[in-house]
Amino acid sequence: MKPDEIVARKLNINGIVQGVGFRPHIYQLARFHQVMGEISNTSSGVSIHVEGSRENIDRFCRNLPTDLPPLAHITDIAEAPDTVRGLVDFSILPSTAGLLRSTLISPDVSVCEDCLKELFDPADRRFLYPFINCTNCGPRYTIIDDIPYDRCHTSMKHFVMCDRCRSEYDDPQNRRFHAQPNACPVCGPQVALHDSDGGLISCENPVEQAGRYLKQGKTLAIKGLGGFHLSVDALNTLAVERLRRRKHREEKPLAVMSPGLERILEYAHVAPEEKALLSSFRRPIVLLRKKEPCLLSEAVSPRNAFIGVMLPYTPLHYLLLDQGFTALVMTSGNMSEEPIAIDNDDAFARLSGMADYFLIHDRQIYLRSDDSLVRLVAGADRVIRRSRGTVPVPVFLRRSLSPVLACGAELKNTVCLTSGNRAFLSQHIGDLENSATYDFFCMTIEHMKRILDITPRLSRLPQHPLCHGAAAGRHGPGSGSTPSRPYRQLHGRKPDPGEVDRPGL
Ligand SMILES: [Zn+2]
Ligand SMILES: [Zn+2]
Repeated sequence: MKPDEIVARKLNINGIVQGVGFRPHIYQLARFHQVMGEISNTSSGVSIHVEGSRENIDRFCRNLPTDLPPLAHITDIAEAPDTVRGLVDFSILPSTAGLLRSTLISPDVSVCEDCLKELFDPADRRFLYPFINCTNCGPRYTIIDDIPYDRCHTSMKHFVMCDRCRSEYDDPQNRRFHAQPNACPVCGPQVALHDSDGGLISCENPVEQAGRYLKQGKTLAIKGLGGFHLSVDALNTLAVERLRRRKHREEKPLAVMSPGLERILEYAHVAPEEKALLSSFRRPIVLLRKKEPCLLSEAVSPRNAFIGVMLPYTPLHYLLLDQGFTALVMTSGNMSEEPIAIDNDDAFARLSGMADYFLIHDRQIYLRSDDSLVRLVAGADRVIRRSRGTVPVPVFLRRSLSPVLACGAELKNTVCLTSGNRAFLSQHIGDLENSATYDFFCMTIEHMKRILDITPRLSRLPQHPLCHGAAAGRHGPGSGSTPSRPYRQLHGRKPDPGEVDRPGL
């Protein structure tokens, strides 16, 4: 066999490989290894045809799984010989509508280092623009309404890209190639500052003005990625105590956000593993041991050795915290036990008794997602609340199941949908003891069914007779198969006999 013999190979790749800059990355990899071919999206991932010298093809295939864009995750690669077509370039084929139904969707991702550099570069056209993002970072799960993951199915559909953004979006060599939330100050979302009555406050820089209010001890409602936060300066005891009174939250610790690790080290102990957790693109709240004496107000986590801390994860957070704060309280924007507010009007209605000012924006959040919470125990991270930054990455099961919907418990509810060997856990929903949370529970199931393209054949509903989610059970003792309000809401029909709550799934 001659060493320069031309061969062809086909690779079918499954996993999180769409909407994460995978195709341009493969384009670069193909050019680097001097192989020709093409890449296209498929119903479950991507398909690659490559041809070139056997040596180059081998190097390309060996390199591919180890050299991935930051958000990509490969679950399976099928490799097979293919027919040589005599291609003279490597190209990215356009997506075919109707095909992309079961691919994995990326979670929301903290702003990346490249975007941060641009954010604080006075020469960049997105200098200080709070919605800067690229294919390696930005919102995903919280702004998507349907699949495939294209701009028209996200809340960015209301913003028409300017020519410069469009040319980045169309260029396979650009970091913003097919970055669905791509935006700039000319064409993208904008922030605005409002008072507690919802009146617009006219000012040149709403983020700077919001920072000034926080320094004066005011409470701000800040619209983030997965919902509103209520924020005060974490060093200001009067402000923290006032927020507690308004939120009816007496002692439960409040999470804080600091601009960088150096600032966190001023008030908390941080092990190397905790540092990695804090800095990961998921940006969870990490429970850290407080330093004594603690620089932060005792009212942040009274009589508690631990404190929940996170790093900024949106450009807006970075701009806010860059104004000289050690830490800001960032607690969920809700009255205790209610779901976090995501809609501007809803926030004005529900949070006006708690917030003095509102820092809002006009990019809609389609699905709320609270901050995730993790803790390091015996050297391993334990997830206490699996939400933003992780959902909807599935847990991979040992075997495939027919599609199941598991509705979770009444307290600290999370639902789960399965498809094949993937179990998709929802974001944290909360305690189903008020109608707002119950509505959120139903909406989340509908939303997940749509964006994951799953029609469950079996359902597991809570059985405890006092459980809200088990309204069905009240129709008869132990009657899990009784047609139920939740079942009808979730499926739009009565269950078939034996379909609900079949044990032993
Ligand atoms: Zn980025
Ligand atoms: Zn633009």
